[in-house]
Amino acid sequence: MSFVTGLKCVFCGARYPARTVMTCPKCGVTGILDVEYDYAAVKRRLTRRALAARPDPGQWRWRELLPIGERARLPALAVGGSPLRPAAALARRLGLGTLLLKDDGRNPSASLKDRASAVGAVKAVEAHRRVIACASTGNAASSLAGMAAAMGLKAIIFVPERAPEPKLAQLLIFGATVLRVRGGYDQAWELCQRACERWGWYNRNCAVNPYLVEGKKTVSLEIGEQLGWEVPDWVAVSVGDGCTIAGTWKGFRELRLLGLTRRTPKLLGVQAEGAAPVTAAFRSGEPLRPVEPRTMADSIAVGVPRNWKKAVDAVRESGGTMINVSDEEIREAMRATGALAGVFAEPAAAAGVAGLARAAREGVVPRRAVTLAVITGNGLKDTRSALEAAPRPIEVPPDLDAVAAVVER
Ligand SMILES: *Cc1c(COP(=O)(O)O)cnc(C)c1O
Repeated sequence: MSFVTGLKCVFCGARYPARTVMTCPKCGVTGILDVEYDYAAVKRRLTRRALAARPDPGQWRWRELLPIGERARLPALAVGGSPLRPAAALARRLGLGTLLLKDDGRNPSASLKDRASAVGAVKAVEAHRRVIACASTGNAASSLAGMAAAMGLKAIIFVPERAPEPKLAQLLIFGATVLRVRGGYDQAWELCQRACERWGWYNRNCAVNPYLVEGKKTVSLEIGEQLGWEVPDWVAVSVGDGCTIAGTWKGFRELRLLGLTRRTPKLLGVQAEGAAPVTAAFRSGEPLRPVEPRTMADSIAVGVPRNWKKAVDAVRESGGTMINVSDEEIREAMRATGALAGVFAEPAAAAGVAGLARAAREGVVPRRAVTLAVITGNGLKDTRSALEAAPRPIEVPPDLDAVAAVVER
């Protein structure tokens, strides 16, 4: 770990050497740690010119900003390097000036979680572990299973009862051992936590393992580079546990710290109305109060977000805000993003777009702003929700006159 200087607790500020510490021993499981780097040294190495000379567009081009050794074995999968494209027609429909989509559904297992799982798998190998485990609403699990397969590790996954079938199919095909917990995500999470302690498995849970957020931040590093070292005015990210938005902010902060960009964007943290404890904590300024999550967006249906503090701090530091959207707004955003931009987003990913739409309506995001929504997962991961959001097909007999009756109507 050439550029990592240590770990710092986000609650009490205590510092630890970067070995296998998972959470702050003083604060317990809430004492989430943050990885610190020797940025002066990174700055000398990670220049615009050095980056331009690296042909691989994937996330390892940022290795000086990742907590991995210079000679670490990496998974032979294309992680990161996802496309960033303008979506003009969608912007017009939503009342936004400029809208860009960062399509992270185009990762190996079709979600942004691959960025984190890749780092997790590399760290597990580095720590000489054979088994890596996580609890997940679906995407962290399927991505971990894929990365473990690519690295020759065994994956043990705790999933809640209601994980969408395509995500379950992915992790079974990737050869993971799947424990379907009769209960919700929060119970699966607890169980996994205790199992890791008991059997010494490498814990991929993002909120506990400080290294995973580091993978997630590469999405922002890429955005800066793809925009020619500029950043949007607003970046929308959906929030469940809070790791994704925390990572997103860290990436933008580092870009500015290294002098690669001059500004940072405002973050728009988006939660589903039925699972919005982070928004509540952001607005009240008080510690998080758990809720019973109710939303179709399974990836952000989190009642006890583990990384709420990092998320709230990130949004506040960025000068942005948190917003909630209804399931109907999420469905509308799925239809609009698909039909007007050709991007198929799963509900939690469409939530970011829905959040920008609402922020535009409420005047939170001005029309002249350059906005970006991170499409955090692909719509094929939850086809049932997609079919609920989509219009019905038109039934016709195999007869051209019947087709004519429809198309000429
Ligand atoms: C995990 C996930 C999120 C939210 O990330 P958190 O770190 O839980 O806040 C959003 N969208 C998708 C598709 C995800 O898989």
